Amino acid sequence: MQPKKKQTDLVAKVNAAYGVGDKILVKQDDGSLQEWTMKAPASLLGGHTAVIWANEHSSCYSAERVKFTGPDRVEVFVHFEDNGQDFSYFKISFYPDFKFGTVVEAGPFQNEIWSQYFVISGKPKKGGHLVISKSPDDESLKLKHTIENIIVSGKGKCPKCKKLGTFSEHNEHCDDCVAEAFENEQKELDHDE
Ligand SMILES: [Zn+2]
Repeated sequence: MQPKKKQTDLVAKVNAAYGVGDKILVKQDDGSLQEWTMKAPASLLGGHTAVIWANEHSSCYSAERVKFTGPDRVEVFVHFEDNGQDFSYFKISFYPDFKFGTVVEAGPFQNEIWSQYFVISGKPKKGGHLVISKSPDDESLKLKHTIENIIVSGKGKCPKCKKLGTFSEHNEHCDDCVAEAFENEQKELDHDE
């Protein structure tokens, strides 16, 4: 049975926000909130239900009951070298200490495959490699494609103009460079006419 995307997303959301040993606020049957401690990463029970595991509770518990507090996540675009593979970038949502990330988007192809993975290799480095895993029980996988560029939360050093700039969507160059390239293209088109 194919898990509902919502449940898969919920597992990823819990794990991106909270690690093992972290305190989480969980809504109880009577509506009260209790502070529990994560015993293991959230997982998809039976392949269809998002659950959490806490020290204070003997069995698993619905992840729908987790109240998200915690700091905001950091979004990072990682661009890979071109080895002819079907994806050139991952958008990764990291917990601010970069210990744990979730692939939230991959492109231009294979989003369905890669967005099931967690990133466990820490803060991405240019020239480095990502280590990813589907769950703590699964084998980890080191991607062979070298990281060529990293853009954190829409800001970063542009590989073309070498300036600190803002990036839209998953453009590889900063907005200024993209705008300039576009203008030049238009000029060339006008010239050809
Ligand atoms: Zn630029």
